Amino acid sequence: MAEELKVGIIGGGYAGMAAAAELSAAGIPVTVFESARQLGGRARGVSYGDTQLDNGQHLLLGCYRETLRLIELVGGDIERDFLRLPMQLDLHHHLELRAPRLPAPLHLLFALLNAKGLSWRERVKAARFMLALRSINFQLPRDMTVAELLRQHGQEASLTLKFWEPLTIAALNTPIAKASAQVLLNVLRDALNRARANSDMLLPSIDFTALFPQRAAGFVEDHGGKVHLSQGVDAIIPEGQAIALQSAQCRQRFSHVICATSPGIAEKLLRPLPQMADTVRKITTLEQQPIYTVYVQYPAQVRLPHPMIGLHRRISQWLFDKGRIAGQHGLLACVISAEGIHQEMSQEVLAQKVIVELREEFGITEAPQWHKVIAEKRATFCCAPDLQRPSQLTALPRLLLAGDYTAGEYPATLEGAVMSGLECARLVKRSVSSDNSKPDKRYPDSVA
Ligand SMILES: Cc1cc2nc3c(=O)[nH]c(=O)nc-3n(C[C@H](O)[C@H](O)[C@H](O)COP(=O)(O)OP(=O)(O)OC[C@H]3O[C@@H](n4cnc5c(N)ncnc54)[C@H](O)[C@@H]3O)c2cc1C
Repeated sequence: MAEELKVGIIGGGYAGMAAAAELSAAGIPVTVFESARQLGGRARGVSYGDTQLDNGQHLLLGCYRETLRLIELVGGDIERDFLRLPMQLDLHHHLELRAPRLPAPLHLLFALLNAKGLSWRERVKAARFMLALRSINFQLPRDMTVAELLRQHGQEASLTLKFWEPLTIAALNTPIAKASAQVLLNVLRDALNRARANSDMLLPSIDFTALFPQRAAGFVEDHGGKVHLSQGVDAIIPEGQAIALQSAQCRQRFSHVICATSPGIAEKLLRPLPQMADTVRKITTLEQQPIYTVYVQYPAQVRLPHPMIGLHRRISQWLFDKGRIAGQHGLLACVISAEGIHQEMSQEVLAQKVIVELREEFGITEAPQWHKVIAEKRATFCCAPDLQRPSQLTALPRLLLAGDYTAGEYPATLEGAVMSGLECARLVKRSVSSDNSKPDKRYPDSVA
């Protein structure tokens, strides 16, 4: 049966390349179609003059197990490719929280109880809240917004502003008044409650295309698969048992297709297929949130006090010193996540605000050599409570859906994307051993 399998994958982002690598490792031939000239999608390298940037500074957590496993599968080396920092939350002059080398969750309790910048009362309330969440195994009886959960647990305004809000925005890219408490708890459970290394913060020292998708493409080709760049798929056409993919260059038939694009593109590709009406409806209900990254290149001697540092009540949320992280001396990246007033500013005004904040906060008086704003206006879905995210399995059993927005416990993250790709790979592999000639019972109208 394995010889008959031929899997087409639409999209060479982290979800699509995760599926491609996993299937290739299992000896199943894949063909990846990527519309852009490079792989990576929303986590991709960007060349700017002589400098290698990313479309946005990303951060991985030690609990992103599948992403880290796949990076190693395709030839990466986690300790070489990343700067690993123990969990820390530093809001310049306002909060300093660092996890000591104690077993989880003691490291977190110690960090909370010893946090600088919070009153004793706030520290105890935060620690009690974490213990209460632990006692319910981070599972709420019903989902609600993070703001509502914090109110229920008496988390005060200044504690919320300094700790919970930056944490939620960093994890979910959604403001606390809109963010799902349950999804935040899923991340806290995996990052904070198990092995201490799960809460480590991993900052890559190479760009996001090189880190995984490009290596995965080499792995796929070494295993007999193909990766086509600049070859976008225009249409998905069911043809009896098979599915054809139409691009400007060709039409190819596959036994299975994994659609691993962003939700907006998936909606366009699936809309013409009547069986996909429910999936399309779920996709259209997802709202989007932006992430802006402002890169500022200073002379090489300019440094921040830490590789990553936050600012309190400023436009700039998190600052990354690319010199400390990747040897790009003098290059600073400022990340501004989720919706906010920065969206109303021109890119030039925004960059100048960031430069002024860097001067006021860190005394950086040197003139920047250049700056570059990258605005990802549809960076992630808005991670609201009780979202109905579309399943990887669709009404056409051989057409699967991967992507950070598909069903899963995580917010829109690399790990969420990778896990969705792996789930699609698992479904393809499972179909090898099952009889696909019968329609799927869950979808009586499906074409099997
Ligand atoms: C600025 C920014 C910062 C972020 N920070 C973090 C972070 O710190 N940590 C974290 O875990 N996550 C972060 N994320 C989220 C993370 O990048 C995404 O969740 C993840 O990259 C999504 O991967 P994906 O494969 O699901 O989708 P995508 O990356 O969108 O991949 C889809 C791919 O499909 C291709 N495509 C589109 N149309 C077609 C077509 N017709 N035919 C063929 N190919 C097509 C696209 O070009 C793209 O390569 C961030 C996102 C952004 C934008």
